[in-house]
Amino acid sequence: MRILFVTSEAHPLIKTGGLADVSGSLPAALRNIGEDVRILIPGYRQVLDKLRNPRVLLKLKWLPIVGDVTIMGGEMPDTGVPVMAIVCPHLYERDGGPYLDPRGYEWLDNPLRFGSLSRVAAILSSKASPLSNWIPDIVHFNDWQGGLTPAFMRFSGAPCAKSVLGIHNLAFQGNCAEEWVEKLGLPYEAYHIHGLEYYGQLSFLKAGVFYADSITTVSPTYAREIQTPEFGFGMQGLLSDRSSHIHGILNGIDTNEWNPATDPHLPEHYDADTLQKKGLVKRALQEHLGLTVDPDAPLLGVVSRLTHQKGLDLFLECAGSLAEEGCQIAILGSGDPSMQQGFVSLAKAYPKQVSVTIGYNEAISHQIMAGADIFIMPSRFEPCGLNQMYGLRYGTPPVVRRTGGLADSVCDSNAESIADGTATGFVFDTADTWQLHVAIQRALACYRDKETWKKIQRNGMAQDVGWDHSADAYREVYKSLL
Ligand code: ADP
Repeated sequence: MRILFVTSEAHPLIKTGGLADVSGSLPAALRNIGEDVRILIPGYRQVLDKLRNPRVLLKLKWLPIVGDVTIMGGEMPDTGVPVMAIVCPHLYERDGGPYLDPRGYEWLDNPLRFGSLSRVAAILSSKASPLSNWIPDIVHFNDWQGGLTPAFMRFSGAPCAKSVLGIHNLAFQGNCAEEWVEKLGLPYEAYHIHGLEYYGQLSFLKAGVFYADSITTVSPTYAREIQTPEFGFGMQGLLSDRSSHIHGILNGIDTNEWNPATDPHLPEHYDADTLQKKGLVKRALQEHLGLTVDPDAPLLGVVSRLTHQKGLDLFLECAGSLAEEGCQIAILGSGDPSMQQGFVSLAKAYPKQVSVTIGYNEAISHQIMAGADIFIMPSRFEPCGLNQMYGLRYGTPPVVRRTGGLADSVCDSNAESIADGTATGFVFDTADTWQLHVAIQRALACYRDKETWKKIQRNGMAQDVGWDHSADAYREVYKSLL
């Protein structure tokens, strides 16, 4: 099958979160099982700089407002998966991030920037595509940024590929003013409840949910959750209507990049048989972060966007008492200014026990994942979550809330699961500080029992967190449409 994978970020070209990890590794996994996948991505500066063998493939003329764009072909630098980048300097080659300007505000023309991504995807997915030697069977577009793809396909008048919407986080919907309908060249007749309209706005994600032939999301539990008012962000009704077209497929992780036995960001390497060497990574991390070097102080790690979704306000509320009990804490992330400030103040109060790095740093993220003893991820909702899987793979058992992909990937440690060899972490139910604190206390109790701890670490390290099963499941979804 020819599959066009439409995404606004893909690691290692550009990354702000989990979507980039998935876009880096799922196309590669599909290629490994024989499918012909190409990635379509905006030509941000970082993408054009990192693309392997860049060459002009074609030019598209007369896109609404935007004018002409160039499609640059190339390959992913690590996996060699073919990439098509949309070169349009005034849309994509800017300082700042893919979605936010340098001051942290959304780019005002995001509807145009990602409307153009969706439109190009639709053009390339039509049987009338100018790229006549590569017309896809499936266009798999991801999140709100690609959401208008099937709408443009529907209104193009030409026969098109089958479309699949990948939902990685329903909280981000790409809602914008009605005026964008016409500006983007969409038919005004489609602006109503059975089409593009969503509570008085044009919604990219709603358009995707409404017009896609099939919908995937990144874990079986999240697939169920998004059909309920608690997790549906207002779209639960439409999603329930489309229930038979929704497939929950748990993400895998890139097991080459996230491998403690080879990770180039680590000062020492280890595996399940040489877990004592993980202590050397912990020592180096403590030194690097200015924490007291103490092999016995339990080190709790966080790598995350610091937002309400991630539940780190709950952790902030109990972090002081954990420090009083002798725990160390290493945090890497950025986001909500008040949460950032809260953690920075905590680090000032406990300078030898708490380290906070505000910002995005891949090397430190790998070092925390390996050097910490316990990984903390108390998300209020979590479509899939990758960090808990990195924690499992690095022998850093995660403490997680029972939601979305966290519920599907972590098995709580209790007498039974420890005895039968399935325990991999610590799971709590309700998003409140007390329950999180209790779960961390349970983790600390196990940590002090070295034999039990090793068992839990090894169970997690043995868990299959790769892409093989999931790539097969995606292939089945695609096949079912053809
Ligand atoms: P989300 O996509 O909701 O932010 P995920 O757990 O699915 O959460 O994926 C987050 C990805 O981004 C992981 O690969 C994680 O390691 C990475 N990440 C998040 N924050 C940072 C940071 N501050 N520095 C480096 N990597 C980060």
